[in-house]
Amino acid sequence: MRLSKRHTGLLGGESDGWAVFYRAREMKDAGVPVIELTIGEHDIGTDPQILHQMHQAALNGAVGYAAVPGIAPLREAIAARVTQRTGVPTTPGNVLVTPGGQAALLAAHHAVLDEGDTALICDPFYATYPGTIRALGANAVAVPTRPEDGFQPSPQAIRQALTPRTRTLLINSPNNPSGAVYTRATLEGIAEVAAEADLAVISDEVYDTQIWTGEHISARAIPGLTDRTFTVGSMSKSHAMTGSRLGWIIGPEKAIEHLIDLATVTTYGVPGYIQQAALHGLNLGPGFEDRIAEPFRRRRDLVTRLVAGQNHIRMSPAEGGMYVLLDIRPTGLTGEQFANALLDSEKIAVMPGESFGLSTAGHLRVALTVDDARLEDAIARLLAFARTPAVV
Ligand code: PLP
Repeated sequence: MRLSKRHTGLLGGESDGWAVFYRAREMKDAGVPVIELTIGEHDIGTDPQILHQMHQAALNGAVGYAAVPGIAPLREAIAARVTQRTGVPTTPGNVLVTPGGQAALLAAHHAVLDEGDTALICDPFYATYPGTIRALGANAVAVPTRPEDGFQPSPQAIRQALTPRTRTLLINSPNNPSGAVYTRATLEGIAEVAAEADLAVISDEVYDTQIWTGEHISARAIPGLTDRTFTVGSMSKSHAMTGSRLGWIIGPEKAIEHLIDLATVTTYGVPGYIQQAALHGLNLGPGFEDRIAEPFRRRRDLVTRLVAGQNHIRMSPAEGGMYVLLDIRPTGLTGEQFANALLDSEKIAVMPGESFGLSTAGHLRVALTVDDARLEDAIARLLAFARTPAVV
């Protein structure tokens, strides 16, 4: 059987920085006590009351095909939440429920890109972005950002990357991996370029409940962007529901109608018992979301303090999200070299910055996803390791 180029070329063939992650998993499976600070998964499970609701919903019969765009009360609750959080009037017709934010990212690009089109992504980027675009037969082009600018994308860099076939710009705030929270000025600059080049903006806002400094401004709330933006949301990070696969797209009604057609031929919706549990989760309100986010704020402060106690490694200001980014360029090693050496020597697994694009080369992304004591121990050992002859 001949496999399509689009299929076999999905990952682009470039060396990905995930080798450290897979090696750490293998070591763990072999019984080595590795501290994993790699992927964005909470160290708590989904709250029992949400799980109870899921169980009850299933027992009560929500196990058949559910409404493909999402069950009406969930679409209403998401629309009300978006209206309340962004100030942009949003109706259920603007909402499509998807199996997680990842499916929403693919669908939003599907809505705009034709084969051979170009899609911009801001570098550094969440690792699935290039493949998501390639899956549609389009070309992913990275727009660099700079540590000196706090990894805020600049209109000039976006303009420089434009071609006549550029149709979309994917942005992500709070940003994974940089922790940058985009300012109003950044978003207004993006709005200007988007209008000039008639781009659709796809705004990945799955970390919007994890803001440590500044404020979360939804791209859809910026004048000029409302009607050309798809926002991507998810219960994964805000409600510790990564495995439930519940996300959404917010966009113009006409586009959502077509996206419902896409859902009909792809996912055929999200299980009803998951949707009912998600509805219950959303109704728990901001207090619950703050409780889920709180450990990451605390651990980010902890790492900030530890890094401030030495002057070898720098930390990028983590303004939001569940990671911190350490700048290890003073060691002269690449992120990949440092992460591999750290895993071998200290049994601590972190992600090389190169996994997320060129803008975070020479950095490490540390997920704040273990308890405070283990994190403190791991960071202290990482900082000490940076001073050893193996590194210096
Ligand atoms: N977007 C970003 C920036 C992420 O970091 C993730 C997951 O880590 C996702 C989207 C996908 O989240 P999910 O599909 O679990 O909603």
